[in-house]
Amino acid sequence: KELTDLNSLADEYLRLSYHGFRAKNKIHIGNLVTDFDSKIGEIKIVPQDVGSVLLNLYNNAFYSVNEKKKKLGDAYEPKVVVTTKMVNGKVEIRVRDNGMGIPKKALDKIFQPFFTTKPTGEGTGLGLSLSYDIVTQEHGGTIRAETTEGEGAEFIIQLPA
Ligand code: ADP
Ligand code: MG
Repeated sequence: KELTDLNSLADEYLRLSYHGFRAKNKIHIGNLVTDFDSKIGEIKIVPQDVGSVLLNLYNNAFYSVNEKKKKLGDAYEPKVVVTTKMVNGKVEIRVRDNGMGIPKKALDKIFQPFFTTKPTGEGTGLGLSLSYDIVTQEHGGTIRAETTEGEGAEFIIQLPA
């Protein structure tokens, strides 16, 4: 683990993810919002691992809003919001999208290895399972999802500061 500026890491990987997404898809996300708490400063993490967790959350969010855009077209304004803040002495990172959301019966499976609803070649179903291990085992944190089917999803990570 090394002292890492979490806000910079979160921002860096967001640009990376969005850049990759834009290169493959035609849509532009006008509402790509970040709200980073400057009080967080540097925390002791494995930057590559937390980076890969964030990258997967961002990729999942962009994928989901893209699916919804394909369905709804101009009537739909995709939105992805990334926030960091201090909560009870812990660092909280939230990644929220207004995409497809997660059906109730899938919600208890998303952190299992190889669970994916994406077509072959588009998803391995390993992202959230690896993320779960990185956040909980490697960093002593928590990760959970909140969602309303059809309206979007939010992933909430808490890490010890
Ligand atoms: P993959 O992205 O390869 O499918 P993940 O472990 O990252 O694997 O995600 C597992 C599944 O969880 C996805 O296939 C999808 O069904 C669901 N999921 C994850 N993030 C979102 C999201 N932001 N919106 C809707 N569904 C999601
Ligand atoms: Mg994924």
